[in-house]
Amino acid sequence: MTTLSFEFFPTQTDEGTSKLLAVRDELAAFDPEFFSVTYGAGGSTRDRTFAMVEAIQQRGIAAAPHLSCVGDSTADLRDLLQRYQALGIKRIVTLRGDLPSGSGLASSELRYANELVEFIRKETGDHFTLEVAAYPEMHPQASSFEKDLQNFVRKVKAGADSAITQYFFNADSYFHFVDRVRAMGVDIPIIPGIMPITNYSKLARFSDSCGAEIPRWIRKQLEAYGDDSDSIVKFGEEVVTDMCRRLLDGGAPGLHFYTLNQAKPSLAVWKNLV
Ligand code: FAD
Repeated sequence: MTTLSFEFFPTQTDEGTSKLLAVRDELAAFDPEFFSVTYGAGGSTRDRTFAMVEAIQQRGIAAAPHLSCVGDSTADLRDLLQRYQALGIKRIVTLRGDLPSGSGLASSELRYANELVEFIRKETGDHFTLEVAAYPEMHPQASSFEKDLQNFVRKVKAGADSAITQYFFNADSYFHFVDRVRAMGVDIPIIPGIMPITNYSKLARFSDSCGAEIPRWIRKQLEAYGDDSDSIVKFGEEVVTDMCRRLLDGGAPGLHFYTLNQAKPSLAVWKNLV
C-alpha cells in the first residue's frame, strides 16, 4: 500500500486559516494518512501550530504536529505533548529544528532530534508514532555523510517509527540512502519528501539553504523559462511525476508532499501516479 501525506505550515491570519482549511478539504478527498503542520523552532509558532493541528484534527483526518527541541524548554515540550495527547493526536514529526540566528543550540536542554525522540518516549511511552527527518543528500551541517548516517541511526534506535526525507530531485540519492541505512540495521519505512516545482527563484533559494540539490539539467531548463510560469509548472510537474514513479517502482513505501499550503501542485503529481 502506498501511503500519502501532506505538509502545511501554520498561517498568520484567520483568512489564511480558512483558505488552508479549504485546501485541506480538497486534499482530504485523496484519503491521506495524515496532514502534518510545521513548528517554528524555539516555539515561534507554538500557538499557531497547535491551533492548526486542532482545526485539522476536528475535521476528522489525523493531524501530525511537527515538534522541534532546539530553543524549547523540556517543561514547554512536556506541556505541548500533554495537550496533543488530550486532543487525540497520535503522530509527531520529531525534529531538532533551526533557530533563525543559528544560536541557542549550546544552551538548549535537548540539542538533537535523537534526544527529543528519547524524551517523548520517556514522557509518553508508545502513545505517539514518531517520524524523524532523513537527508538522502546529507544534512547541510553534518561533518560527513558517514556521520550523518550514524546520527540518523541514532534517532531510529532512540525509538523512531518512520522517517520522512528532505526533498531531492534525484531518485538515486534516495535509493542510496535507503540501501546504506538498511545495511546498518534500520528497518523503519523511509518516505520520500516531495517538493512540487512551481517557482524557480524561490526553490533555488530554499534549496541552497537546506542543502537540496537541483540537478543542473533541471536548473538550466527552469532558468531558460524565465518568467514563463506556465512552462515552469508544466515542466516541474513532469520532472517530479517521473521521479515519484521511479521512487514508487523502486520500493518507496509512500510519498509526503511539501504542499506550501497549496493543493494544486501536489495533486497534479499525485493524479498522474494513481
Ligand atoms: P538532527 O537529526 O538532530 O540532526 C541535525 C544535525 O546534527 C545533523 O547534521 C546530524 O548529523 C547532527 N547530529 C544529529 N544527532 C547528533 C548527535 N547526537 N551528536 C552530534 N551531532 C548530531 N524545521 C523546523 O524548524 N520546523 C519544522 O517543522 C521542520 N519540519 C521538517 C520536516 C522534515 C520532513 C524535514 C526533513 C525537515 C524539517 N525541518 C523543520 C528542518 C530541520 O529542523 C532541520 O533540517 C534541522 O537542521 C535538523 O533537524 P533534524 O531533526 O534532522 O536534526
